[in-house]
Amino acid sequence: MTETLGLDPLLLEILACPCSDHGELDVDGERRLLVCRICGRGFPVRDGIPVMLLDEAVPPGGSGDAAAR
Ligand SMILES: [Zn+2]
Repeated sequence: MTETLGLDPLLLEILACPCSDHGELDVDGERRLLVCRICGRGFPVRDGIPVMLLDEAVPPGGSGDAAAR
């Protein structure tokens, strides 16, 4: 079964990264992020709603837990 983080698969299909390349998004079920295939940013899902804001994005390669380092 494909992890969708509780999101509608149709919604996932139409969502695109807000970066200039508007990359498709992959679901990272472990980190509960939508990850852009092009720029690698991760977008959190809060209460079933994807937060597609560059300001809220986890940087490429980031663990989402940078404070632990
Ligand atoms: Zn992107």
